Amino acid sequence: MRQSVEQVAAELDELLPQLQCQRCGYPSCADFAEAIARGRCRANRCDPGGSRVLDDLNRLTGGTDGHLDPAHDTLLLPESVIIDESECIGCTLCIKACPVDAIIGSAKLMHTVSSLDCTGCELCLPVCPVDCIYPSQTSEKDSPLFQESLLARAPDHRAHFRQRAERLGNSDKPHRVGNSLAMKKTIADSVARARGKRDHIRGNAVCREKDTAR
Ligand code: SF4
Ligand code: SF4
Ligand code: SF4
Repeated sequence: MRQSVEQVAAELDELLPQLQCQRCGYPSCADFAEAIARGRCRANRCDPGGSRVLDDLNRLTGGTDGHLDPAHDTLLLPESVIIDESECIGCTLCIKACPVDAIIGSAKLMHTVSSLDCTGCELCLPVCPVDCIYPSQTSEKDSPLFQESLLARAPDHRAHFRQRAERLGNSDKPHRVGNSLAMKKTIADSVARARGKRDHIRGNAVCREKDTAR
């Protein structure tokens, strides 16, 4: 019996790493799976899945791509990220960008990442106004260790992504970070305060060095 597009998409989604990283060019793993099932996209775009996932997708779809599309093929990828809490200004933008609720914190308080829940998608990096989020546990994505870790963590990542989508009541749309003028002003003020604080600390350190040199 012929399978429906939805059934094929669900089977394809089962093979994907569930990082929800958008490196394939789609808002989520499920969207990428659906695009393949509908014949709108080739299967060679899941960067973190590398050759392992490409082989799995080819087996299911009858595809023949031997390599990832070079535009979606990165050698080194992080398993998670860390926040430099001394620099964090508590703006909460990273929480809004995180597809799996892996960041803990609230407004004006420092934020931290649950490394167990973090998929390493790096979607929080570009939204941080003070650049205090860094990739962690970076390794070659085709290494057995990296791929075994993806396999082991995929069910939890999928569950967290769905829980978040249900909570937001927005399961068919990717999350978009707000960019209202008020939000931009709040962030600009916070950045200015953080810079002022940092310059003050550096200024004190220079004074101490000069005092010691005398
Ligand atoms: S893991 Fe990332 S690149 Fe692979 S299908 Fe999911 S969202 Fe796309
Ligand atoms: S903490 Fe950052 S890198 Fe980790 S899952 Fe959330 S958005 Fe992705
Ligand atoms: S985006 Fe950056 S500054 Fe804002 S809460 Fe997250 S880590 Fe802190």
